[in-house]
Amino acid sequence: MNKKLINFPSAFLENYQNIIGKEKIKEIREAARSLKGKHIVHLSSTYQGGGVAEMLNTLVLLLNDLDITCGWRLLKGSKLFFNITKSFHNALQGSEIDLTEETKRIYENTTKYNSIFTHLGHHDLIVVHDPQPLSIIKNLKENQKWIWRCHIDITEPNQNLWQYLKQYINQYDEMIISDEKYIKDDITIPQTIIHPSIDPLSDKNKDLTEEEAKKIISDLNISLDKPIILQVSRYDIWKDPEGVLEVFKKVKKEIDCQLVFVGNIADDDPEAVEIYQKIIEKAKNVKDTHFLVNIENNDISINALQKMADLVLQKSIKEGFALTISESFWKETPVIASNVGGIPLQVVNDKNGFLIDNPMDYDSFAEKIIYLLNNKEKREEMGKFAKEYVKENFLVTKHLLDYINLFKKHLT
Ligand code: UDP
Repeated sequence: MNKKLINFPSAFLENYQNIIGKEKIKEIREAARSLKGKHIVHLSSTYQGGGVAEMLNTLVLLLNDLDITCGWRLLKGSKLFFNITKSFHNALQGSEIDLTEETKRIYENTTKYNSIFTHLGHHDLIVVHDPQPLSIIKNLKENQKWIWRCHIDITEPNQNLWQYLKQYINQYDEMIISDEKYIKDDITIPQTIIHPSIDPLSDKNKDLTEEEAKKIISDLNISLDKPIILQVSRYDIWKDPEGVLEVFKKVKKEIDCQLVFVGNIADDDPEAVEIYQKIIEKAKNVKDTHFLVNIENNDISINALQKMADLVLQKSIKEGFALTISESFWKETPVIASNVGGIPLQVVNDKNGFLIDNPMDYDSFAEKIIYLLNNKEKREEMGKFAKEYVKENFLVTKHLLDYINLFKKHLT
């Protein structure tokens, strides 16, 4: 990598020394030594919007800083293709799907076309993210190593789709999942758990002063004179924006507060526009609600909101992990979240937030929100625990080391 060209803080491992200490940096550099000169490439379906892109932005840079040549390729596809892959995403999380021969044909043809476009073959190892590019392996596998990184909640996948995708998954050398509850008995390849992570030096997570954060929030036309309940999520059924609104209506009867829901619409997510339009229609007569979409200065704005929110909500119905939780914790903001998917890896009930067992239990969400809004001391205590918890478990430097160890298993 031409280091002179890069001046992002996240491009250099040594920049993390103040957070994780010298010894850890040394450990990572030593672990990566035998991978020097290897060529690794990631393949995903979008460069922005959602957790996968968020993490690759940093991991790819740091792998290069370790003298591993690492790139990141994107999948090209039509709207129809991304409609299909979104239905795959939903079905892997448990929805119904109409898996016709035509659907399979479009899916397979698009990944076949991408097998030429992405020019992956000469790499030592290829990491393919999520179901969108999964079947590309069929056209390319030779002597390279292939890893499928599944970021979503596959506790109860639609069996019809699972049986179809399994033929591709089993061609990989390894599958990475985010939690042990996603381990599958009917997969023949090794399965490894790697936890997602946040980058403490990125614009989204770097330290902001209160003055800076207030200014950024006022630029979004949000006043800070009422407590803020925040949810940051793509406009997606599994993030349940309508449920968030219902919970807010209950809370609003007791406490004069405001709801900020910040979402984006990614290129690979054609459903999102409809979901967004539906929710703004529902919210139009509910006072003090802000449903924002694709905001300007996204990262720094999310940072400021997560810092200044009184609490964060993650009312997911299914959830692979939810980076938004670790992001909020890093700013010492407690989170009230559904007890689903990867969320309980992060939320320790009553310590850094509250877990609500049934995501549809609006009353319990409202009750915990009201309790925390009325209890500043508890919020502060939870916030302190939350930050430490992320520091121990969910920083990008740990994630990087987990990847290095897995790459070594396959390449050395
Ligand atoms: N995000 C963002 N802007 C938005 C909404 C979401 O930058 O308007 C980011 C969010 O901060 C987080 C990622 O998108 O970094 C979402 O990751 P998460 O794991 O929570 O959910 P996913 O979208 O991967 O299901």
